[in-house]
Order: sequence, then structure tokens, then C-alpha cells
Amino acid sequence: MKGVWLARALGVMAGAVLVGSFILVSAAHSQPKTRLPPITGDLLRGRTVIIDPGHGGWDSGARGTHVTEAEINLKVALKLRSWFQLAGARVLMTWQHVQDIPAREKYRVHQRVDWINQHGGDVLIDIHCNSGNAVFRNPQTFYWEGAASYHLAYDVQEELQYFTHSRRQVKRIDQYVLRYAKMPAINVEIGYVTNAEEERLLMDPTYQERLTWYIFVGTERWLMKGRWSPELLDSPPPIDLLVR
Ligand SMILES: [Zn+2]
Repeated sequence: MKGVWLARALGVMAGAVLVGSFILVSAAHSQPKTRLPPITGDLLRGRTVIIDPGHGGWDSGARGTHVTEAEINLKVALKLRSWFQLAGARVLMTWQHVQDIPAREKYRVHQRVDWINQHGGDVLIDIHCNSGNAVFRNPQTFYWEGAASYHLAYDVQEELQYFTHSRRQVKRIDQYVLRYAKMPAINVEIGYVTNAEEERLLMDPTYQERLTWYIFVGTERWLMKGRWSPELLDSPPPIDLLVR
């Protein structure tokens, strides 16, 4: 138990250090475009991150009281995109405007996966909202197969645990997109739209910004640990970035 507690405490401290560095660096550089410190150096520069906001068009996904899952997925995905763009990554989105998928058109998941694989990103992040019993809440990160996807999911979920004080763990799930994507892939179920309080949070732009920051930091942590598969990594991360 002590070991688990220590690991958790260290994780919290690591998060605090990252946030601390963020504040220090942002004070040193006044231009808004450079407010994000290069936590991984140039590791994200030139990488392609594909973000897939779940559902869209005819398929609204889960429904909350005030909002549909697809609406939230898109807004959160756009916030997540900006963090990666600030870090120099090339970001592709399966859709980025409500009108990209006509309202009467059926959501065809296999076409979406084909598009994702044709564009060949280094990493795929699917964004969904969960639904269920009204008391269920908090984000959870899913993966299907492979060490790279597992570690990515684990690092993102650890950041989300820190952010939400939740104990939800990563989980393996057989989802079409995760199964057929030819790259490390995760699905972040960002919270329950069926929980009234969490639905309110998920609709709040400030909360969306914070939530996506932790998803982004989790992805960067995965990069820092050199967990890219050999095919994706030309060289290991610089050692000095691992000692912070
Ligand atoms: Zn969904």
C-alpha cells in the first residue's frame, strides 16, 4: 500500500512540476503563441496527431439533458487540437465543423477509419462522452491492443486521475476505430453526459481547456518516456528532458 501511495504522490508532484514550469515559462515569454513551454523539446514538431471527435451528423451519440455527445466531442477536440498545435504538431481532425457531416447523413465508422489510416498519423486520439447511471462520472481512457496504445492510455489516464481526483483506470475495449487504426490509438471518454454536474462541466469552455491540457500532458509524458514504437521514433528523447 505504501508503495502505491508513494507512486501516487510522486505522480501528483510530477504534475505539479509540469504546471509550475508552465507558469514560469509563460511569465518569461509574453507572446501568447509561446505560452506553452516545449516540455518535450521539438519531439512533437513534425509529428502528426489525428483527433477524432466521436459521432457527428445524424449520429449524436449519447444525450445529456442540455447537450448531445457529438457537440461536446467536437468542442473538446478543437481545444485539444490547439494544445498540440502550440507544441508544433501537425493536427488532423476527422471533422472540425458541425456542417462537415450533414445532419441527415449516417455516421459511417469504417469510412472514418479508412480516412484515418490513409492520412497515417503518429497517434490517434478519439474523443467521446460516456453515458450510464446518473451517479457515474469522471473520464476514462480506453485502448485496444499493443504496448504503445496501452502506455499512451495509461499516461493520459494518470493525468486525468490527477485532474479529477478519480480512481478510474485504463480499460481495454473492442471498438471499431481502436481495433482498425494502424497507429497507437486511444479513446478518451471525457466524462458522463448523463451526470448532471459533469454535463455542466463538459459544457464549460474553461473546464474543456483544463481537461484537454491534461490529455495533452499525458500524451507528452508518453513521448518523454520514449514509449514510441521503434518505427515511430527516429531517436530517443533527449536525456535532459527526462530530468526535470
Ligand atoms: Zn461516443
